[in-house]
Amino acid sequence: MSILSVCDLDVRHGLLPAVRGVSFNLAKGEVLALVGANGAGKTTLLRSVAGAHLPASGQILLHGEDVTAVPSHKRIAKGIALVPEGRRLFSQMTVEENLLLGGSAGRKGEWTVDRIFDAFPNLKPRRHAKASHLSGGEQQATAIGRALMSNPDVLLLDEVSLGLSPLVVDRVYQQLQGLLSSGTTIVLVEQDLSRAMNVASRVICMLEGNIVLDRPANGTTREDVTRAYFGLHRSTAERSVS
Ligand code: ATP
Repeated sequence: MSILSVCDLDVRHGLLPAVRGVSFNLAKGEVLALVGANGAGKTTLLRSVAGAHLPASGQILLHGEDVTAVPSHKRIAKGIALVPEGRRLFSQMTVEENLLLGGSAGRKGEWTVDRIFDAFPNLKPRRHAKASHLSGGEQQATAIGRALMSNPDVLLLDEVSLGLSPLVVDRVYQQLQGLLSSGTTIVLVEQDLSRAMNVASRVICMLEGNIVLDRPANGTTREDVTRAYFGLHRSTAERSVS
């Protein structure tokens, strides 16, 4: 059974349709890169899966259970965690306090504060530092750690590279590598196409709220994705859902 199913999802901002009739299934352990131009609807889709934005119609199923109307804090307890764009840490709280807060709404499991420090060793000496005093890379690692503390079945990562220098992004991705190969099911929104395709097992490209490409990453070229990205794909022929 799919771990996550999104069925014919429509999401609006007021009257503006941001996600239109989107459907996909995610199997356990898949790493899905969600790509597309600015305004394509990636963040809106991710926030809807996390319960931060209610869809106008359609369904979201987690382990087959309909969670479409379940509020975000209860969705965390069911196994969906979001690392939001811009990190959104509690700036006056320490690294450790942010991590513990992430654990409080979630489930018990293998992720503990000590394990987060093993996965992100640069955070350990900063455990008592306030989030506002951290570098961008440390903040991003804390935000990912905070989400992992809820021991999610599905981890949603929204633009982890945003606002970080290429060197720092390299380091964050190096640290993510263990996670990516550990069997955690991940949806990753990433502007950097090469980076996304390097780490993902599957790629979905959105254009104006629609899915215009959905393929295994293996065998999909950068050019295939670029064509879809700019709307140059061959209509339905490009869409071969796995
Ligand atoms: P980006 O890469 O720039 O974050 P995106 O693919 O994540 O883009 P969304 O942020 O989901 O796209 O935006 C989808 C559409 O919804 C865009 O037309 C955007 O202008 C609009 N939109 C997003 N957030 C809001 C909002 N809070 N209020 C009104 N419209 C919004």
